[in-house]
Amino acid sequence: MSKPKVVILGAGYGGLVTTIRLQKQIRSGELDVILVNKHDYHYITTHLHMPAAGTDHHDNARVEISELIDERKVRFVKSTVKQILPQEKKVVLSDEILSYDYLVVGLGSETETFGIPGMKEYAMSIKSINSVRFIRQHIEYMFAKYKMQPHRKDYLTFVVGGAGFTGTEFVGELADRIPVLSRTYDVDPAMVKIFNVEASPSALPPGLPSDLVEYGMDVMRRKGVQYKLAAPIKECTSEGVILGNGEFIRSATVIWSGGIRGNSLLEQAGFDVQRGRVKVDTYLRSFQYPEVFITGDCSIVMDRDGSPYPANAQIAVQQGYNAARNLISAVRNKPLKPFVYDYKGTVASLGRGEAVGLLKVKKVKGKFAALLKKVIDARYLFLIGGIPLVWKKMIFKQKATT
Ligand code: FAD
Repeated sequence: MSKPKVVILGAGYGGLVTTIRLQKQIRSGELDVILVNKHDYHYITTHLHMPAAGTDHHDNARVEISELIDERKVRFVKSTVKQILPQEKKVVLSDEILSYDYLVVGLGSETETFGIPGMKEYAMSIKSINSVRFIRQHIEYMFAKYKMQPHRKDYLTFVVGGAGFTGTEFVGELADRIPVLSRTYDVDPAMVKIFNVEASPSALPPGLPSDLVEYGMDVMRRKGVQYKLAAPIKECTSEGVILGNGEFIRSATVIWSGGIRGNSLLEQAGFDVQRGRVKVDTYLRSFQYPEVFITGDCSIVMDRDGSPYPANAQIAVQQGYNAARNLISAVRNKPLKPFVYDYKGTVASLGRGEAVGLLKVKKVKGKFAALLKKVIDARYLFLIGGIPLVWKKMIFKQKATT
């Protein structure tokens, strides 16, 4: 009898954790497991704001997949998913077609621009190793260009759209990087402007109490960040951004972190989606195709009040655990276990040595919160690669080059 075949799409938080848990738990010969990812490395998305700003090397934010999987139990296919055909139980990759008995979709998110004119064309976003290498080079190039054309103040004006998790963490790093770049390129740091523009009246990740938001904004302001709150971006052009009140910020650099939507492959495959994300059942399966499990940013899980939990790495990891367990139960004809999200809290970095967060109900800030953030990062590395990976990525890490 042929073994059931599980195909896992995406080696991000959800897909990778599903794979690692499966390989730990399956018996020899019980399942064929295939992991598909477009790169041969896993990137630690929660770390990307640092290489994007240039305060850390991008290699510290990625791990070779071959270091993480047991190739006797999992076949890794480096390829791009082009199409999902749920009715035929097939997946079309750039160079082959895979059939499956069970599918796990963990293909992450795409940038949501809410139809803001010019945003797709002129803004950059922090999404992958490739995108952060580009952003880092671009920022540095702006300093070099300014020295050649000192009348172009827009080269030293940086606009970050969105003051949620990604925007806040990136702005904190960027502000830390400015003194270094200013020294390297003989630029007066006072010439550099960083605007963090946000449509809602408050900055920092939603859900933080107002005193922590104030604390975080004070830290940022001391580093030179200027906030524009309740200021939706109406249009992005090749010369800057136009805000809802008509104000124009002339800038040669716009980084957009204002929203995400699920991977468009799901919508193209005919799944019922809301902003590209699929509402899953209590076992993380598609309501339309129960052999398809969906994790991370591609999925929507509702809380007790019927509102969707925010998409983040924490929920994606927990979903990975649950999906692996339920796949094994499905194969062994055992009852599945409902997914229950255990929200442990959130900590947002504000740059070097500063962070704010909420652990369940306990507020944390300053150096202690920054340390906690490092512990959270280390915990994830330990989970996927044990102590050697923590050692490699946190102790003997690559140095940023300037
Ligand atoms: P991802 O981790 O995005 O992985 C998707 C994978 O699919 C990637 O490996 C990608 O290469 C692959 N892929 C995509 N398309 C294809 C294709 N067509 N073919 C093959 N492979 C494909 N969350 C937190 O909880 N805490 C934080 O501190 C935090 N900070 C963040 C900071 C930044 C800068 C960003 C951008 C996000 C942050 N998040 C944070 C959010 C968190 O990173 C995401 O919610 C999480 O990565 C989602 O995991 P995932 O498994 O759905 O997808």
